[in-house]
Amino acid sequence: MSTQHKAMQYRPIGTTGMSASIIGLGTEHLDNKPFVTADEVIGTAIDHGINMMDLFMPGEAVRTTIGKVLSGKRDKMIIQGHIGSTDINEQYDRSRDLTVCKKYFENLLRCLHTDYIDCGMLFFIDSEQDFTQVFEGEIVKYAQDLKKEGTIRAIGASSHNPIIARRAVETGVLDLLMFSINPAFDMAPSSVNVLDHLEDDRFDFEKNLDPDRAALYKVCEQSGVAITVMKTLGAGKLLSTEHTPFSQPMTVGQCIHYALTRPAVVSTLIGCASGAQVHEALGYLDIDDTERDYSGIVKDYQGTFKGKCVYCNHCLPCPQEINIADVNKYLDIGALNEKAIPPSITQHYTSLNRHGSDCIACGRCEERCPFSVPVIKNMKRAAALFGV
Ligand code: SF4
Ligand code: SF4
Repeated sequence: MSTQHKAMQYRPIGTTGMSASIIGLGTEHLDNKPFVTADEVIGTAIDHGINMMDLFMPGEAVRTTIGKVLSGKRDKMIIQGHIGSTDINEQYDRSRDLTVCKKYFENLLRCLHTDYIDCGMLFFIDSEQDFTQVFEGEIVKYAQDLKKEGTIRAIGASSHNPIIARRAVETGVLDLLMFSINPAFDMAPSSVNVLDHLEDDRFDFEKNLDPDRAALYKVCEQSGVAITVMKTLGAGKLLSTEHTPFSQPMTVGQCIHYALTRPAVVSTLIGCASGAQVHEALGYLDIDDTERDYSGIVKDYQGTFKGKCVYCNHCLPCPQEINIADVNKYLDIGALNEKAIPPSITQHYTSLNRHGSDCIACGRCEERCPFSVPVIKNMKRAAALFGV
């Protein structure tokens, strides 16, 4: 496996002023690992431009190890640290008791030898009860106070439930959301607890694109709330012939590309247990559009995707060099509320090199699209909506 990679790309985290590397690091596999392993994983990541890291793990030992690794390099990483992530006997747990939340958050600062955490994440907002306890209690106020005093630079939340996550986004408190995204989860009805299904023999869901998940991503983009992604690889199940719900396994690159092509997504946080696994994730930077293309995998589900753009860009090349997926994406977001399109969405659209108005209706894209998307019509709609 190559240890040289193309340059990292970065995306802005909403209006926070921070920009995240599109490949980030999940650190859950560093639990119970020695310093040398954590140093190899985090060191390899930093050396290759990864600057985004999630750290929810329980146990003072692993927090202290990571603190040692980051000594002298703290400013190289944007850290997501969680408010409400706790442990019982080094086993991961969560709390909605403010005193307990404070104790663990302050412990995280101490273990990392730092006086700030970039993104203070309201932990595991999956149920109605989680939402009420956190957003209608003292915990959200604690996060807001931390932000005011500069101990955190942004407020985030983590969730696996699209309905509850959307409610959290609509409070207007959040700068970012960590959400579980992969093509299989995107077919899971919002009533399903996707985490329960990670234990199943076969990782399978309905063959329907869940409208609540699709809507969440668009609402995030519309509200300027960035998404960082967990479970990008479906705990590895999407890579396995035995467990995938699709007709063939996906590659790491295809899974990462699927997540990165959802609206609002800025970074995919890949859990790595070795430097080699960091390099495998970084390999995404080196592969071309053909290798990233996931449309051949998810087209099993084309009945429900029919007419809806999945932003895969399988329809390229366009003779007018239009980025068809991006035009469709901003059209979908703008169409959520045509009378009040956020200026950021208009700006993203107008900054594209080519626009809907450049379409010459040659129809080549429509011949290639596996999902029967009416691209020519969409290009016209986008031109009318954004005026170009
Ligand atoms: S129009 Fe079709 S092929 Fe093109 S990006 Fe959308 S879904 Fe993919
Ligand atoms: S129909 Fe329009 S968008 Fe599609 S390939 Fe032709 S010029 Fe490009």
